[in-house]
Amino acid sequence: MLSGGLLLRAGSDYAVANASRVQLLGADGKLIAAKAADGYYWLPLRACAEALGGGVDSGTDGVYTLRGVNHMEPAALADGTVNGKADGAYRIRQEGQAVYVTPQAFAAAAGYALCFPAQGQIALTRPVLYGYADQTAYISALCGGLPTKEPDAKGYIALTFDDGPTGGKTGLTVRLLDGLKARGAHATFFMCGYRVKDFHTHMERYLAEGHELGNHTMDHPLKFARLGADSIRQQVASNNDLIRSYTGAAPTVMRPVGGAVSDTVRAQMKALGMPVINWSVDTLDWKYRDAARIKKAIVNNARDGDIVLMHDLHQPTLDGVLAAIDELQARGYAFVTVSELAEIKGVTLQPGKVYTKITA
Ligand SMILES: [Zn+2]
Repeated sequence: MLSGGLLLRAGSDYAVANASRVQLLGADGKLIAAKAADGYYWLPLRACAEALGGGVDSGTDGVYTLRGVNHMEPAALADGTVNGKADGAYRIRQEGQAVYVTPQAFAAAAGYALCFPAQGQIALTRPVLYGYADQTAYISALCGGLPTKEPDAKGYIALTFDDGPTGGKTGLTVRLLDGLKARGAHATFFMCGYRVKDFHTHMERYLAEGHELGNHTMDHPLKFARLGADSIRQQVASNNDLIRSYTGAAPTVMRPVGGAVSDTVRAQMKALGMPVINWSVDTLDWKYRDAARIKKAIVNNARDGDIVLMHDLHQPTLDGVLAAIDELQARGYAFVTVSELAEIKGVTLQPGKVYTKITA
């Protein structure tokens, strides 16, 4: 195992520190976070320092001193600076007794090289790994062996909702979010920009409640896949900016209109760094608008690794999906976002690549 370093996997409470597997919890018992709405991972400062044989002293005015790690001189961390050197990514956040830092700040303070070998994986190591595919693959495999916070389930299913948001403060989307929250189910919302402009009263809820932001173009042009490269990119990029303006984070996955893909769509999404997410189970909810039929389509067809297509538009979809979640949870299934499904399956989603289901 790697010596002299710290490997973490988002959502796990275990890490590899100096070649040993250690449990890593913040003072408040929180696990290593998934990427937060602000785009940062947040690491528990004290737990990380102690796992590496060091410690943290609290000074005044929000300055913390990291000592005894990697034979470094003690390092002073304050929000935005490490040892007086300023960087926008050197962030510190205090929550009660718990102090969280970004991996960038911790790496700078501890004298480690930082890299992200795969989605949700964080490696702080002595050797610099950039450009060495064999080393990053090795590190990634070590990270991949760490358990996630996901409960053991018989299977994991990604529910996806296109064409929303719908309604205002008490509208359909808000009621759908309430229903998912009550069941501890996560989903991915492929939103249209023109609807975000109309219905954005609840935008802070998606990430806070564990859902994933998806991009379903600004205007939902029916001939999206046949548009020119600039128009395709603009339809997605402008919607990323709009959604980010309300949520603080841009979507990381996209779904083309009608699921139609062309070489131009693939190339432009690759350039924007976005994987293309289609589906393996189609509920045809928009066509039949029948809750019992939608429930049956999900319960009978959705299994481990499947991505389920629905639309965030009509009441029968809401009734049908919630009933299906109740039944499938009772049978041992868990509902996760597309990116969580990829992480669970050990799949790194590739920009520009089209996915219909995700299996190991
Ligand atoms: Zn659509």
